[in-house]
Amino acid sequence: MTREFIDEMKEALKAEKNAILDKLARQDSDFKDLVSAKTINDSIDSVTEELAFSKIQFTAVHDYNKLQAINNAISRIHNKQYGYCFQCGKEIPENRLRAIPYAVVCVECKNNQEKETFRRR
Ligand SMILES: [Zn+2]
Repeated sequence: MTREFIDEMKEALKAEKNAILDKLARQDSDFKDLVSAKTINDSIDSVTEELAFSKIQFTAVHDYNKLQAINNAISRIHNKQYGYCFQCGKEIPENRLRAIPYAVVCVECKNNQEKETFRRR
């Protein structure tokens, strides 16, 4: 995995994060403040984010989970763990990361997880 690729993914993650926050800002005034305060960057205060989210309805849960996944991926870039499967440690193929920049497990582990969830039901 090249430095360029990781930079590309970092941009993609930031763009995706901004898109979610923009969308939420249109639905909620707390988010509008958050976005207009231009705090949207790598080091965004997650407490502020959580506070804003706590006031949003349930419909935002999906967006919230996605945002958490994006933050998680960004911190993995900082820790130089980005692109490696969280479960088995293998490199995640670039085409998977291009499709889902915030993926933290490889396809194999993801499928295993889904099987597990299914079995537990
Ligand atoms: Zn894996």
